[in-house]
Amino acid sequence: MENDEKSSCVKPDKNRQGLLRAIPKVDEFLGWIERHDHIPSLVVKNAIRKVLDDIRCAILAGDRISNDDLSKDSLLLKYHHCVKQKMGPNFRRLINATGVVVHTNLGRSVLPESAMEAILQVGSRYSNLEFDLATGKRGSRYSLVEDLLCELTGAEAALVVNNNAAAVLLALETLAAGREVIVSRGQLVEIGGSFRIPDVMAKSGAGLVEVGATNRTHLKDYEAAITDQTALLLKVHTSNFKVIGFTSEVPLSELVELGAKYGLPVMEDLGSGSFMDLSRFGLVKEPTVGEVVKAGVDIVTFSGDKLLGGPQAGLILGKREIIDRVKKNPMNRALRIDKFTLAGLESVLRLYFDDETALRSVPTLAMLAEPVDSIRRRATRLARRLKKSLVAACEVSLVRIESRVGGGAFPEQGLDSKAVALAPKTLSVNELEAKLRRVALPVIGRIEEDRFLLDMRTVADDEVALLADSLQQAFEGK
Ligand SMILES: *Cc1c(COP(=O)(O)O)cnc(C)c1O
Repeated sequence: MENDEKSSCVKPDKNRQGLLRAIPKVDEFLGWIERHDHIPSLVVKNAIRKVLDDIRCAILAGDRISNDDLSKDSLLLKYHHCVKQKMGPNFRRLINATGVVVHTNLGRSVLPESAMEAILQVGSRYSNLEFDLATGKRGSRYSLVEDLLCELTGAEAALVVNNNAAAVLLALETLAAGREVIVSRGQLVEIGGSFRIPDVMAKSGAGLVEVGATNRTHLKDYEAAITDQTALLLKVHTSNFKVIGFTSEVPLSELVELGAKYGLPVMEDLGSGSFMDLSRFGLVKEPTVGEVVKAGVDIVTFSGDKLLGGPQAGLILGKREIIDRVKKNPMNRALRIDKFTLAGLESVLRLYFDDETALRSVPTLAMLAEPVDSIRRRATRLARRLKKSLVAACEVSLVRIESRVGGGAFPEQGLDSKAVALAPKTLSVNELEAKLRRVALPVIGRIEEDRFLLDMRTVADDEVALLADSLQQAFEGK
């Protein structure tokens, strides 16, 4: 295949040579363009080159290209499309209609408005990032959130880094480099394809000692593996998978007792980590961060942008003596949190002083807690609009669906939800899916049994009209 293409590139036939000669030169193309549009000349030139290169490649590849495709109008149309793409942001907003609340590919957590205001305040002006306003001396950026974290969880000390992967790496490197860490075989998880406990362990310089069997690990397994090389007992939240059936895990409280008996610190990587018990919304009971701290763990790590609903960050809490050691690790400097994140995180943490405030104001929590009746009302609103605007293009109905928490939390559990189901008449469901990715405000949903499903749990009230507009654009092929 590759060879064929090459030879056709080297020896174009007569027709191709004619077409190639008909491609305008860059200067000629430049003459066609009206330059009153504030497009930087670098963008103009690169766009022209791209359009001309693309057409040249298409001719050489033997694609069906006619003289029409080489006309001024046709090339200018391509050019304007290309300029629009180059000028627009690559990183932009979209509508998440997948029903996966903490969707890592779609930006994980949506920040509360107060957090965005805080980011704007300190981001667009100077701030006391590392300046102690009380003493006038140099301060620590961590002190801005440490007290808040301790008050909210009961921990003695805290520190925040770039993300939870960094938190785990830093903790392991500090506490166990050159020595051994004991972990249950059933907890050697891979998260999101690039974070694997055994690999992170290796990078930290700590030796991994696996104990137990995939499905069952007992306290005596840990105890039997303790040697004078042991530095840490580690428990890892299995996050995105669950072993069911004949299983057994050692509770944290028993690991803590074992640690105390041998003078070894105990760490838990909680993954999602929530400050709030979410079982009242129908999810299984998981220990909150506060409960893990109370169980006596020496150090616990979790993400800022999973269930907590804040910005990307890795939170590290625990006993003062242990956290002090982590703070002094020079690696910390390379993993440090930036000022925007810190502003957003502080603002989100403040919302947690009152459960009701957090549930109302932290979008991640509000979405998880929203009752299905309320989701149904939003779905009905959208469906009603679409039945008017898209009557000829597709059939619209409401269906039951299960939303997901996402972010590796509660992998086996769905949340009862409502979706608007579209059965397109003028295009295939796969075409609809592709078109919805290309409109000005893209919409991501799910395809099931030849229907496109829009789970309304993750679509905000003020996105209903925008979603309807995007759908209209997709059907009109704009
Ligand atoms: C998600 C997760 C991580 C990685 O956290 P990031 O914030 O994505 O870096 C680590 N450990 C567990 C158990 C997780 O669930």
